[in-house]
Amino acid sequence: ESVHVTGKPIVMQEPVFKIREIFYKAGVHKSEDYKDLDDHIAVELEFVQYLLDKGETDAAQEFINTHLINWIPEFHATLYFAATTDFYKGLSLLTQSFLFRDLYPDNEQYKNEIAKLSSVVEGLNLAGDYVTIAKGSREPEPEKTIPTHCYICGALCGQKATVRDGILIKTSGLKGDPKGGGAICPKGAALRAQIYSAYRIKEPLIKENGRFRKATWEEALDLVADKLKAADPSTVLYFRGNDWNNWYHEALFDHYGAHKVTHRPMCDNANRMANEHNLNDKRPWLNTAESDYMIFFGQNPLSTSYGRRQVTMIKNALKRGAKMVVFDPRKSETAAAATEWIPLKPGTDGSVAMAMCYVIVKNELYNKEFVENWTYGFEDFKKRLLGEEDGIPRTPEWAEKISGVPAETIERIAKEFAAAKAKGVGSWAGVSQVPNGYEGTMAVQALNGLLGTCDAPGGPSLPFKRKLKSAWGEGQTKPPKNAPPKLDKVKMWAGAIPAMFPKNVAEGKIKV
Ligand code: SF4
Repeated sequence: ESVHVTGKPIVMQEPVFKIREIFYKAGVHKSEDYKDLDDHIAVELEFVQYLLDKGETDAAQEFINTHLINWIPEFHATLYFAATTDFYKGLSLLTQSFLFRDLYPDNEQYKNEIAKLSSVVEGLNLAGDYVTIAKGSREPEPEKTIPTHCYICGALCGQKATVRDGILIKTSGLKGDPKGGGAICPKGAALRAQIYSAYRIKEPLIKENGRFRKATWEEALDLVADKLKAADPSTVLYFRGNDWNNWYHEALFDHYGAHKVTHRPMCDNANRMANEHNLNDKRPWLNTAESDYMIFFGQNPLSTSYGRRQVTMIKNALKRGAKMVVFDPRKSETAAAATEWIPLKPGTDGSVAMAMCYVIVKNELYNKEFVENWTYGFEDFKKRLLGEEDGIPRTPEWAEKISGVPAETIERIAKEFAAAKAKGVGSWAGVSQVPNGYEGTMAVQALNGLLGTCDAPGGPSLPFKRKLKSAWGEGQTKPPKNAPPKLDKVKMWAGAIPAMFPKNVAEGKIKV
């Protein structure tokens, strides 16, 4: 009922609370053994049957008028026209006829359908105990708030879950939490819609003859296990996302001997690896809380913050008068809120960053003390910038030809950034999802290195690395790995790095 009455594809909405209230007064509750929803059509119809069995005709009619009538006509019209078998068409006609015969006693169609199908229904021998409802009132649980955290992205922002009678009704920020800072992003706030999505798949589905059918977990797991046993493990590719049970399904496939790919190639792998190799932290947060000048390359933290506190920090910094420059081909949410949005051609971020480094080094604007004590490779990098290595100075004019960003803009931003007191520059998947993502990110991070922003107010915060405790419990042994023979990397990764695909095809590494 929730879905059809509200028009939103979300179950467990207000009608469920109303149904529970009516059931409570009637001295019944939804049976624990019946796993579907309280406002499922089967439950509502069986409740009508229960009332009729007790001789409470008025109460049954009242329930039909206040609940079933609100959604059954539309639902059954949809079912009737979508049904591809006579069984469902008949079921639709019979239910409507049963519900409306009292409202429209002269309607011949309803009378005929009941007469036609009643013998079929009798043949089904449906008499017996109630299936969906059980006797006895169940006290509703009082509303409570549970401190927890959001699972939608890896930031794991702290979250308050408000639960009424076992149903999640709201999620909000958890005060004092370091990742969310007391707030959550729109995705975290919409968690309820995800959990109670009417489209959520809660049982295994097996495809047969082009259609899916429901299956038990036993059947589905046996099917997959049989297929895996029959396959040569070195021909199997295991792909995992960023869920919180990686440790055991990854161990399973490592032991089985499959090749594996993680979510990273689709995300920010190049960015992450370059950050890790250059800063020893894969995804440093800019300390925007103290920033006077922030630059983002291919990063949209106001929309995909990976920790909602970042949004608050950036917004507060902007209110304080900090400058935010966003290099992005697309006018993202962050670009729209920026002091200056500078569009550039996709995949050319590295050239702009290199030209900014050129301006900073050429004009001796870099932090000499930091460069001398906390970086390595400066002399080689300088040669590269000035073109002493390959005859190509990485000037703003050079970068303009590649990126489309005017040379004077690059020069101006580089000088402004170098002169700002608290500053930092960051990048993310926008720089990463191109063939030169690793190099582009290194060029961006070179700006932080040259200006000594690392761990300084406004710059990237570089936390100490902590080794996480093993997920395996005491006495549990991780199964040994059976690594498969190495695959041709190009073939293995091509599908996962779309940006590399045309190049690999052009070089004949992949045949299409
Ligand atoms: S950033 Fe949003 S989606 Fe990610 S954990 Fe925080 S609230 Fe959830």
